[in-house]
Amino acid sequence: MHPIVLPSLKKFFVLSVSFLLATELLSAQAGKGDPTLTEFYSPVPKIVTPGKTDAEPPSDAIVLFDGKNLDLWRAEGPDTSKAAGWKVHDHIMTVDKKAKGILTRQKFVDYQLHAEFRIPENITGSGQARGNSGIFLACISDSGADVGYELQVLDNYNNTTYVNGQVGSIYKQSVPLANPSRKPGEWQNYEVIWTAPRFKADGSLDAAARVTVFLNGVLVQNNYTLKGLTQYIGQPYYKSHGAAPIKLQAHGDPSEPISFRNIWLRPL
Ligand code: MG
Repeated sequence: MHPIVLPSLKKFFVLSVSFLLATELLSAQAGKGDPTLTEFYSPVPKIVTPGKTDAEPPSDAIVLFDGKNLDLWRAEGPDTSKAAGWKVHDHIMTVDKKAKGILTRQKFVDYQLHAEFRIPENITGSGQARGNSGIFLACISDSGADVGYELQVLDNYNNTTYVNGQVGSIYKQSVPLANPSRKPGEWQNYEVIWTAPRFKADGSLDAAARVTVFLNGVLVQNNYTLKGLTQYIGQPYYKSHGAAPIKLQAHGDPSEPISFRNIWLRPL
């Protein structure tokens, strides 16, 4: 090889590489290039057959109440084997305040929940004493008392109360982003995404609970980070716990009892 050829080849090589890099850059900027570099084929999402309507449980849901019985629920109280005492009729269940609240027999951590409720058309009372109930997204009391994280259920169609205690609130912690209440007598639905809190071995908080809630299709809680247990009196705080049941509240106010139907859940 002639000695003059070497520098020329080197120059040619450098120029070629520069040209290729510039072309690649321009192609990328123009949206060209190899699209398959950013396309993945695993993991493949599992097939879930949805319900005929969004209210019906998808194929992988745990159906907690389908209108037939309360076999998957127990009564609030120290006797954890006691059957839930609410009335099942017309494919719905109606709160029996004397029988206290009801809890799922199964315990859960993170989940997607669907639940429907109806304030009776003949509801009376005002403020917190008008169709008050609640969904404790995790009830951490062994006896099933109101200790946990309450998503409020209340009639707020033309009924006012403290805003962090109205329907769609995380009770006394987070004001709902809207009030999409339907009239008493009409069915309403909650779609909830619950991420349970995590605790360290020494019982201290590792990660706070988070919740997203839709009420009647309207976002009312947007990935809200809970400050702790929802407290009637005093500030919220965290207390270590593991998987926990879900509780439906029987509130002590004298207003007419509300009803629930179509309750299902997908563990996440
Ligand atoms: Mg309540």
